[in-house]
Amino acid sequence: MSATSPPAPIQGVRCRRCGRVAVPVQGFGCEQCGASGTDLAETALDGRGRVLAAVVVHEHPQPDVPTPAVIGSVLLDEGPVLRALLAGPVPADGWAGRTVTATAGESAPVVFVAAGDPA
Ligand SMILES: [Zn+2]
Repeated sequence: MSATSPPAPIQGVRCRRCGRVAVPVQGFGCEQCGASGTDLAETALDGRGRVLAAVVVHEHPQPDVPTPAVIGSVLLDEGPVLRALLAGPVPADGWAGRTVTATAGESAPVVFVAAGDPA
């Protein structure tokens, strides 16, 4: 999949009481206000975000993830931060601050690639 493909949606939950969005989907309760049950609605996030930080790992608990691999903390446009694989060539100026889009990962639930040229 290329960086020009539309982002793959990421499943999350949106709190109907306070609007907080969280990933992954869970029914334990809202991270912000504690609402649960029908107050948490599953929602598809658009799969776009910005890398806050990235690190190269040489061992991964999932044996099907080839290493070394880059794991990034990605701030999604809707608010949640999640850790995911960053794939593709390392941008010349590094991953931090790069806009990324989610792809349908083969070896992990979510994989991000750099989205076009830096702004
Ligand atoms: Zn809430």
